[in-house]
Amino acid sequence: MTTSKNDNIKKDNELSPELYHIAREKGTEAPFSGKYWDHHEKGMYQCAVCGTELFSSDTKFDSGTGWPSFSEPMNTEHVILKEDNGHGMRRTEVLCKKCGAHLGHVFPDGPRERGGNRYCINSTCLLFKGKK
Ligand code: FE
Repeated sequence: MTTSKNDNIKKDNELSPELYHIAREKGTEAPFSGKYWDHHEKGMYQCAVCGTELFSSDTKFDSGTGWPSFSEPMNTEHVILKEDNGHGMRRTEVLCKKCGAHLGHVFPDGPRERGGNRYCINSTCLLFKGKK
């Protein structure tokens, strides 16, 4: 994290309706609808709510699910993993540690050679910054 202050966290009334729904109400964007599922540039995916660096393009892979998928977070200290037993499923929710935004879920069916995890993240919650 570049700052310990909370200045960079967007307030709820500054979020788009889509981002509010996913980040604050734990919604899910429709697969193949987001801006990053088929995005292959090199760089860093930040939290769309607070700017925290969440996922590097180096860990992104094509999962075929229609959501951006990563084998690991940029820094495990930047996210929180939480048991989620909603919707009749046992899943692990992924949240931004700094602002608490719901980002998506992590599943144990990722590429084995990369550790076996699949962080399935909503494009809406991410902001891509290309490498300069
Ligand atoms: Fe955040």
